[in-house]
Amino acid sequence: MPRLIIMRPLIVANWKMNPLTLAEAKKLFNSVKKEIKNVKNMEVVICPPFSYISNLNPSTGGQTPNLKLGAQNAFWDPSDNGPPTGQGAYTGEISPTMLKNLGVDYVIIGHSERRRYLKETNEMISKKIKTALKAKLKPILCLGETEKEMKRGKTKEVLENQLKEILSPIPNSKLLISNLILAYEPVWAIGTGNFCRSENTKKVLLFLRKFFKKTPILYGGSVNSQNAVSYIREAGFSGLLLGGVSLDIQEFFKIIKNLNRV
Ligand code: PEP
Repeated sequence: MPRLIIMRPLIVANWKMNPLTLAEAKKLFNSVKKEIKNVKNMEVVICPPFSYISNLNPSTGGQTPNLKLGAQNAFWDPSDNGPPTGQGAYTGEISPTMLKNLGVDYVIIGHSERRRYLKETNEMISKKIKTALKAKLKPILCLGETEKEMKRGKTKEVLENQLKEILSPIPNSKLLISNLILAYEPVWAIGTGNFCRSENTKKVLLFLRKFFKKTPILYGGSVNSQNAVSYIREAGFSGLLLGGVSLDIQEFFKIIKNLNRV
């Protein structure tokens, strides 16, 4: 395992559709900023809802170079051009270029909640990754099996198929290699409290490492302050994708503090 990946974990906070007011979002973001000032050996990415992004600036009130902004989704077309130059128009969508222009560096693509409720397919996800890369965003591609698939022993098969369908249409360029981030998120572990034990995630990580030697690979799914370190130290993940726990500021800080000692 390359040393660098273990040395500086990437911690991604997916706020999902929270909080309900801008005032709360600012409060949460500013507390994270304050906490992160003393933490040097990790990169923390906050992914708020789109509507708050332009109001949250990692640089105001002093530099925090290891705090970055991410988005929870982006569209697959860079602009809303209609024919003949484009395929649009796209009411309600957000272009990766718009996000980049707001200071966003990362974007979560293919989260299982979007696959489930918004019927995102591997084909759509593939197009989104391609456009995000062109906009100079770092896409965090979510992969994972359902409970049924896990119980049938199909995890590796499912992941391999997702990777094939999503990545094979994208040229294997330097842009892809140096910016892609993978997140292994078992669907059954997300938001359930039923996390995947680190020894089991390690098997999946070793499988993914056969194809992706240096790509950062995160674990996500009911991470808490008790289990967080095990995914980095024992399983060897490059970082974590945190949902619910990233909104519980005390638990979130505990995770940051524990990882800071790794
Ligand atoms: C997620 O939303 O990607 C996630 C991992 O959620 P949770 O931590 O709440 O399981």
